[in-house]
Amino acid sequence: MSFSDRSLKAIGDHPLAVAQLLQLRRQLPWVYGVLVLSSLQLAYTHFGIAPHFLTIIVPAVLISAALWRLAAWLRPLSAAAMTEAGASRVLKRASILGSAVALTFGSWAMALGDYGDAYLQSHVAVFIGVTLLGCMFCLIHLPRAASLGSISVLVPALGFRWWADNPVLMAIALNVALVAAVVVKVLRDSQHLFTDLVRSRDALHVERQQAERLNNENQQLAYTDPLTGLRNRRWFFGKLEELLAARAEAQGPPFCVAVLDLDRFKPINDTYGHVCGDSLLRAIGCRLASTVDDQLLIARLGGDEFGVLFDGPRDAAERAITALCEDIHAPVLLGEVTARVGCSAGIAVFPDAGATAHQLFDRSDYALYHAKSHRRGHCAVFSHEHEAIIRHEKEIETLLLSADLATEIDVYFQPIFDTRTMTVSSVEALARWHSPVLGPVTADRLIGAAERVGSINTITMLLFEKALQRFRLLPRTISMSFNLSGKDLSSVETMQALVRQVIASGVAPQRIIFEVTETALVSDFEMARQVLERLRGLGMRTSLDDFGTGYSSLATLHELPLDMLKVDRSFAAGIGTASGRKLVTAIRNLAQSLALECTMEGIETERQLLDASLIGYRYAQGYLLGRPMTVDDLLMTIPDVLGAPVPGSSATLGRFAA
Ligand code: C2E
Ligand code: CA
Ligand code: CA
Repeated sequence: MSFSDRSLKAIGDHPLAVAQLLQLRRQLPWVYGVLVLSSLQLAYTHFGIAPHFLTIIVPAVLISAALWRLAAWLRPLSAAAMTEAGASRVLKRASILGSAVALTFGSWAMALGDYGDAYLQSHVAVFIGVTLLGCMFCLIHLPRAASLGSISVLVPALGFRWWADNPVLMAIALNVALVAAVVVKVLRDSQHLFTDLVRSRDALHVERQQAERLNNENQQLAYTDPLTGLRNRRWFFGKLEELLAARAEAQGPPFCVAVLDLDRFKPINDTYGHVCGDSLLRAIGCRLASTVDDQLLIARLGGDEFGVLFDGPRDAAERAITALCEDIHAPVLLGEVTARVGCSAGIAVFPDAGATAHQLFDRSDYALYHAKSHRRGHCAVFSHEHEAIIRHEKEIETLLLSADLATEIDVYFQPIFDTRTMTVSSVEALARWHSPVLGPVTADRLIGAAERVGSINTITMLLFEKALQRFRLLPRTISMSFNLSGKDLSSVETMQALVRQVIASGVAPQRIIFEVTETALVSDFEMARQVLERLRGLGMRTSLDDFGTGYSSLATLHELPLDMLKVDRSFAAGIGTASGRKLVTAIRNLAQSLALECTMEGIETERQLLDASLIGYRYAQGYLLGRPMTVDDLLMTIPDVLGAPVPGSSATLGRFAA
């Protein structure tokens, strides 16, 4: 350790005067110790030679005073409680007292100089010289006291010796004076060094503080979402890792990770513009920020997605997050428009749902996906069932990637009836995958897996090709509905390939109906709108599938170039109740006002078929009328159906055109 390092360590973080005082406290006891011992020796050598007054009484008083000061300097002191002004006062006092002490002891020694032989006189001279130099070195941090002390002793001593006219003593006195002068210079230099050291330490301290403040500001910016002022994604994952490390080490209590996603944000953003969308997010960010406390931390992960860390068990987390969703749901005034968005949430509980940040986040995201597809506007907690589904999905994805799709997938047709004539007006092409490993895989799962692994476009083209091949076997009065995924709509190449396939098949474009769900439209509404427009421009028809399960509003329907509306089968199930009937009627009226043909899906009973047709649904589809089947089965079934009246309907079925 270098001198400056040692000194810096000794002065710590104290102001200059306090640091000097602390140094002095370390040295002054030695000064008084040296004085006491040397005085005892001097009194002893002069005992019996000088008067008792000078060898007993005066030294007793001086030594007692020195011991009293020694004890005073040894008393403990709290440096932290000491102010710079207080320390300066003590230093000043010590400097005056130091000169007085030097003067008193020097005068006493000089008084003794009158007695004894040359040895004793030399002892006096050495006492004065050595004591003085020793004291000066100890007063290294009090150069003023050292200088005053030396002057107050040397001037009278020199004067006295001059007057005494003893050349040896005079030489000793001059010697001491010279050394004392050099010592004073050295002391002053080292005092400057010390002062510079403290000053540079203070400057360093200020610089460090500034750098720290700048660093804090930068960190603050790096962890803040500029739009909402909430914490951002980077902060969220950092905090999650931190929480995990602390919990894993201490095997601490559970905590929850949640992902919140706004429902209907996209259409608001698309309809009213990005400025309004930003204002909406800011308002929601403000609401969320007001709920943050030690237990609940919120960050904006991006877009309309927020991350929550809840330090508590599952039930409390569910309550807190449901309350957040309700907060978000409250209307927001955006200029003249009042917007209202919903919110779905997924929760994953540590340690049940996972032990790493990645696992927990993925699972809360999965629970969110589950909430969105099954209970929109609610929060779902990741469970073991979800885990089993995920495992199964992963298995499907793996097998799909290595499957011989051309032979393993096929298309089934489900008939759609015209309720007025009870004839088959169209068929819906539905994907079927028979995996040699898994057996039959449902269409939902196949399409979902294909979307996740990125092979949906290829599969859609393959399915459409097969669908067209089979469809050509059916009578020309029948149309074919084909389902498109959102990812198909956003792929220009896929859409062009599908159009080329229609043209190449020779099937009249009017016989093709493309079905899209609301969720398929969500990712890029404008692009989807343009694609649907183009398809219609080429003579094909478009249909909105599963109506009523998403958030379709009049505005959405109005803006979309649609020909048909397919009402989700959950409405057919409720058509028997008064409220269900009312709802189904309202939808039919809405469709009628927009000049859209209406199909009721999921017709399973005769009663449902009758109700749907009485309410005015032109088309009906469901297990009652026919399950999805191969084209061969369909061709065989059609003559059967033709022969007998359709259950629940008095209408007779027309014959298919050849
Ligand atoms: P979707 O478009 O709503 O198709 C109707 C689904 O309802 C079919 O299920 C059909 O079997 C089923 N269904 C028909 N009538 C009834 C009924 O009376 N009761 C009940 N409970 N269900 C009935 P499927 O074939 O399993 O298809 C499920 C979904 O998979 C389809 O729903 C569609 O969204 C999607 N899908 C099917 N094939 C394709 C395809 O080739 N491409 C794309 N992108 N999606 C497809
Ligand atoms: Ca469909
Ligand atoms: Ca449907």
